Amino acid sequence: MSLLKSIPKIDKFINNKEFQGFSPSLITQISKIIITKLRADILEEKVDSINEVDLIQSVKNEYKDLTSPSLQSVINATGIIVHTNLGRSLINEESFNKAMKVATSYNNLEYDLEQGKRGERYSHIVKTLQALTGCEDAIVVNNNASAVFLILNTFCKNKEAVVSRGELVEIGGSFRVPEVMSQSGAILKEIGTTNKTHPRDYEDAVNENTSMLMKVHKSNYTIEGFTSEVPYEEVVKIAKEKNVIDYYDMGSGHMIDLPFNLDQAEPSILKIMQYNPSLLSFSGDKLLGSVQAGIIIGKKELIEQIKKNQLLRMLRVDKITLALLEDNLTSYLENKLDDIPTLKMLYTSIIELEKRADLLKESIEDLCTCEVIQTQTLIGGGTTPNKKIPTIALSISYKDYKANRIEKLLRRENLITRIENEKVLIDFRSIKENQILQIANIIKKVFN
Ligand SMILES: *Cc1c(COP(=O)(O)O)cnc(C)c1O
Repeated sequence: MSLLKSIPKIDKFINNKEFQGFSPSLITQISKIIITKLRADILEEKVDSINEVDLIQSVKNEYKDLTSPSLQSVINATGIIVHTNLGRSLINEESFNKAMKVATSYNNLEYDLEQGKRGERYSHIVKTLQALTGCEDAIVVNNNASAVFLILNTFCKNKEAVVSRGELVEIGGSFRVPEVMSQSGAILKEIGTTNKTHPRDYEDAVNENTSMLMKVHKSNYTIEGFTSEVPYEEVVKIAKEKNVIDYYDMGSGHMIDLPFNLDQAEPSILKIMQYNPSLLSFSGDKLLGSVQAGIIIGKKELIEQIKKNQLLRMLRVDKITLALLEDNLTSYLENKLDDIPTLKMLYTSIIELEKRADLLKESIEDLCTCEVIQTQTLIGGGTTPNKKIPTIALSISYKDYKANRIEKLLRRENLITRIENEKVLIDFRSIKENQILQIANIIKKVFN
């Protein structure tokens, strides 16, 4: 009982000079919680002494924990360029500076500078997208998931959208096409089978209540063996004949041709545009290499209808998104592909990656055992499922440490690696060229 009496009085405790310079209200809030817990622990006989120095330290620790940023930068040494868990595509620093200027001052977000009156938020990227893709009109929403939802809700409420059974995908973060469709009010009309869908399946499915033929990119799987799917070109033709809308949820979508023959599996947005589609949507932060956004391009009269949907107001994008996206699209327009970090990483040659790996190896090889190896990686982010691309990695081992122990030690320093064949790999495909020294320093710190 005497222990209860020696619990510090809160008013006095918070005035300890150790807390000088801290926010008094936050110190009070944390102290109350810690002292209440102390009282409970005493009553349950979990503690048998009170140490004020320790109490002060726990308050300070909690304070630091609460006030230091939870969202931090990490080094992505997994080799997966579009890594959804690690923030997907990187934004070019110069783009970010331009966006910062827009965001930290007033701007013409919805103001027509020429006419001196209210303008259109979406107008800023339309011209660029028109010039780049030849689309009639465009609109940008929060992400591609919202684009899918908005399109289905606008055109297929209580109407049928025809989708192949081979494309009823679930992608990460529980985005399931059939469920998104039913929430949007669309009636899903499944056609074909898991492995085979034919043009006549689309043709036969159309009735007076059909609004759309929809194609969905198989983001994270492939169907192999006895298979056939209808290319989008064909879907567009059938839709025109039947006088319904065609729509392709391209998922990642990529503006230009991809290296390593990846294009054979997946035509670019520019190629798809040659088929004169009604509507396409794709992500801003997958292979396009920009900020989180969902981009819809297509026929003017259809985009006009989408603009009338009240949902758009809820899915609308901020000035920062528009500024970043505009700059990214301008890089494509000017063919300055090196300004897009995602593409730069994707296109870096094996020889160049090898050079970087050798550089790192030289600076750490007296600390741990390491070897430069050529291996393969995935692009990630639901871009090109199951398609491996070549890469260079530094394989690291240390004393008799197991791979997952090393992986964890490096992860504590925000260096995220991957394990392949029981070896920790630092994969250079997703590492920025100016990060080599930083990685060397982390490894020196961990193994010293
Ligand atoms: C990634 C993806 C989406 C969702 O896009 P977000 O931009 O992540 O919202 C939708 N459909 C497909 C096919 C995708 O690959």
